[in-house]
Amino acid sequence: MPAAVPVIEGWFTVDEPPALLGGRCPACGTYQFPPTGTWCPNPGCDSDQMATVPLSRTGRVWSYTDAQYQPPAPYVSPSDPYRPFAIAAVSLEKEQIVILGQVADGFGVGDLHVGAPVELVVEPLERDGEQTKLVWRWRPISGAGDHEGEAR
Ligand SMILES: [Zn+2]
Repeated sequence: MPAAVPVIEGWFTVDEPPALLGGRCPACGTYQFPPTGTWCPNPGCDSDQMATVPLSRTGRVWSYTDAQYQPPAPYVSPSDPYRPFAIAAVSLEKEQIVILGQVADGFGVGDLHVGAPVELVVEPLERDGEQTKLVWRWRPISGAGDHEGEAR
């Protein structure tokens, strides 16, 4: 039994560097996340097959917020008392689709602004017996074409 596994199988890889897995329509090139393996989300396309492909590891913050209240189960708080965490909706560099995720450990809403560049990381979400469950998160990239958040 591996010591660390994705919290959801088939949505992202945990190799270094990690990547989200999405669907790409072989007929029209439309992307989706999470990957379904079937039916193209493009209403103008009647393809019923989607290839599973790794998605861009970088993107820009489209919107963000923080979870000031503890989410209900199955959420398991990694800290007691509960510590608020930030959530970012990120538009992927190449695919231009928006994917929601927690913000990397150690970063909060003060580290984010709309348009800020972020990259995908995989971090521990919770422990389940002997296993660590991993989840994807967005980590701010400092100084990578970021012209707004200077000199904080
Ligand atoms: Zn299509």
